Amino acid sequence: MAVMQITEYPAQVLKEVGEPVREFGAELERLAADMFETMYAAEGVGLAAPQVGLSLRLFVMDCDGLKLVAANPEILSAEGEQEGEEGCLSVGKVHAPLARAARVRLRAQDVRGEFYEQEAEGLAARCFLHETDHCDGRLFIDRLSPLRRDMVKRRFQKIRKWR
Ligand SMILES: [Zn+2]
Repeated sequence: MAVMQITEYPAQVLKEVGEPVREFGAELERLAADMFETMYAAEGVGLAAPQVGLSLRLFVMDCDGLKLVAANPEILSAEGEQEGEEGCLSVGKVHAPLARAARVRLRAQDVRGEFYEQEAEGLAARCFLHETDHCDGRLFIDRLSPLRRDMVKRRFQKIRKWR
């Protein structure tokens, strides 16, 4: 297993709609294992393939006791609303408040290509939405008001300058 480099805003790959995952099995399992290791090393709770430079519809997450690999994720339903802070490893973990659905049902395939459905609430539901957005080439800052988006970008630019 290996820790991969995390792609940061404004890299083009983060804006692209990912290609569907078509090949399942050992190679995908290895990629998912590397993505988990990268996510844990960065102390994140979710990581999508575009964040390691791969334009693929794939994410891993370990959030609120829910650990899974989601290939070709689809949001089947999203209900209610939750307030909360959101951040992203590709935007230096700078947080901003963002309202999201409170209960989300996800459909995806595992590393062997088996379809499954999973429901989540709270932080895990937020994670489903955030990571599926990545697979669609969308960042959480795209969902913020222009004012908040600029604030996050400015703070992220400062972080980048310091390291
Ligand atoms: Zn993210």
